[in-house]
Amino acid sequence: MTSRTAADRIAGTVRADIRALSAYPVPPAAGGIKLDAMECPYELPDAVREDIARAVHDTALNRYPAGDTTELAHDVRKAFGIPAESGVLFGNGSDELIHLIVQACCEPGDTVLSPWPSFVYFDMAARFDHARFVGVPLTADLQLDLPAMLQAIAQHRPKVVFLALPNNPTGGLWPDEAVQAIIDTAPGLVVLDEAYQPFADHTWMTRLPTLPHAVILRTVSKIGLAGLRFGYLSGHPDWIAQFDKVRPPYNLNVLTQAALRVVLRHKSVLDQQAAQLRADREPLARALADLPDVTVFPSAGNFILARFSGEFDGNTVHLALKTRKILVKNVSSAHPLLANCLRISIGTPAENTALLSALQDILRSH
Ligand code: PMP
Repeated sequence: MTSRTAADRIAGTVRADIRALSAYPVPPAAGGIKLDAMECPYELPDAVREDIARAVHDTALNRYPAGDTTELAHDVRKAFGIPAESGVLFGNGSDELIHLIVQACCEPGDTVLSPWPSFVYFDMAARFDHARFVGVPLTADLQLDLPAMLQAIAQHRPKVVFLALPNNPTGGLWPDEAVQAIIDTAPGLVVLDEAYQPFADHTWMTRLPTLPHAVILRTVSKIGLAGLRFGYLSGHPDWIAQFDKVRPPYNLNVLTQAALRVVLRHKSVLDQQAAQLRADREPLARALADLPDVTVFPSAGNFILARFSGEFDGNTVHLALKTRKILVKNVSSAHPLLANCLRISIGTPAENTALLSALQDILRSH
């Protein structure tokens, strides 16, 4: 008998775990101050945009992207200091590379493990790709629990361990010794996700050639190019060759490639923007911490996690900011350790000032 409605047919066809999910939420932010997604608040200068326009003009859209990305790889390696002996793989955002890693490594039911809470997509990608996700709780003050990590690694023997350095959404940067201990203990691959590295003044990239079972994942999304959708993975060429096999053909479109090559010629613009955000982080953190009943967690990223207590819960403050057209990320119910927490991207100085005065207003009005 054929099903009469789409719902009938979907129920018998789409995986039950997928049917139970909601799609990744991207709230609208038109007209307001957008501090919810760790984007860079600065747009590229006109001169760079004009260069991009010319490069786009000269790009053939009727052909598939070239298979040979040697020239782009040369530019990316130079701009981001990828060691000569390491391989490199490009993704349509680093989200895609997270999938490729899990797909290449995990049989159904194999374990992917990460300190938790961390980037939600580690969990989602693992489950979409039929792996089992184990999140190892952070300590109450949102630091890495190394003994718990080592114990969980021994127990679950994960194929892949993801470490976000710095961690999203908490902002902490796990100590080198702890990361090294995890690399030394893990039986499979360790992915060092340096999405927020430009704000941390710290990297594992120079040490990558000495780490045969670790790879480094990076993105340009946080340094001013979130709309481009470009991420890269570097590590031993033999690992990279395996992941390249599950990469969808032509995953990097020609417009992204053309624009990226232009922007990388102006890399100092991106570096200056990141430096500005780094410089604005401490004053914003201090001003937030000075508000009544607000706890701020130390951040090495371009965002700050703040906990609201006393009369105000995270949901109330989030909503009150939203009615003032300021969008921050409410992570209050994402994990018990994040109760009443909001994650706030660092904006322009004017946006940070507007946020602070809105918060003063909200907290005073209660
Ligand atoms: N890794 C981490 C830790 C992130 O927080 C994010 C984005 N929020 C990503 C990777 C994905 O970035 P993109 O897909 O934009 O490259």
